[in-house]
Amino acid sequence: MDTRRSFIKKSAVLIPAISVANSVFSKEIMQEKMIPVVISTWNHGLPANEAAWQILEKGGWSLDAVEAGVRVPEADPEVITVGYGGIPDANGKVTLDACIMDEKGRAGSVTFLESIKHPISVARLVMEITPHVMLSGDGALKFALQNGFKKDNLLTPKMNAEWKKWKKEKKAFSSKINIENQHEDNHDTIGMLAIDSAGRISGACTTSGMGFKLHGRVGDSPIIGAGLFVDGEVGGAVATGSGELVMKTLGSFLVVELMRNGKSPSEACEEAVRRIAHKIPDYQNHQVGFIALKKNGEYGSSCIQPGFNFALKTNAETKLVDVEAWMKTL
Ligand code: ASP
Repeated sequence: MDTRRSFIKKSAVLIPAISVANSVFSKEIMQEKMIPVVISTWNHGLPANEAAWQILEKGGWSLDAVEAGVRVPEADPEVITVGYGGIPDANGKVTLDACIMDEKGRAGSVTFLESIKHPISVARLVMEITPHVMLSGDGALKFALQNGFKKDNLLTPKMNAEWKKWKKEKKAFSSKINIENQHEDNHDTIGMLAIDSAGRISGACTTSGMGFKLHGRVGDSPIIGAGLFVDGEVGGAVATGSGELVMKTLGSFLVVELMRNGKSPSEACEEAVRRIAHKIPDYQNHQVGFIALKKNGEYGSSCIQPGFNFALKTNAETKLVDVEAWMKTL
């Protein structure tokens, strides 16, 4: 399996600079008034940000930008944690979760969706043409098909082989993930936040969820307030990592509320991570990462373990930022 670390090696040429996120850095960005801006989780955020940027640099709407951005890893079979080519569940099915939210607080979401390559676009349609926020499973699939989406086989031969191997080995499901130099990379959601030149903030989050999860499992990523939250008057946040932990704390909502109450994006993410870690005795075995963006363009991040990064693009910079782990500050 292509691991996140082997991807880092392969992508080295694409990475102009790597730096460590901290609040000092965020303050510099704020002072330079870096808007438009787009940030997104993990290495696959780099090409996703490029697609978003094409819209942002022309003065387009951040909602269009985040949708276009996350469609890139959704369509890329080499990204084994999002959309087409994602790691299947325990039954060998690729089931997808996604949500989207704009500066006015409008939101759309799909969960447990099969056979559709771009769940983020279905989520946007749920937001735009239905009175609902979330559609799930067969209902979401029917809605997509009725609205012009086509069915695709999302299980690549490579992932089918991985699933067969996993079944044969009778490995138990593990949510112990993405910890530097340990464990397999069994998930890496893309979450993206963008502010356009008119100051409007939007966010998107899309994933195939945890590899080999129970059939029917839905994680934090499509849950408004858990995997993603945007408030046009404050800013936005997205989460990645052990979804169950994020759901139990409504992590992204918490980060935005903490920013509303005066915390910087980094401080808010760190507090959300701390609350999760304090509740679970074996937090050393889990990864959760948040990225956050304030309305003024200030950004920040925190995660439990070393090994999490995010991609940033502004008029001045294109880079991956290695996030300082909360555990290391103890
Ligand atoms: N949070 C996602 C989930 O639990 C996985 C991830 O972010 O990598 O489904």
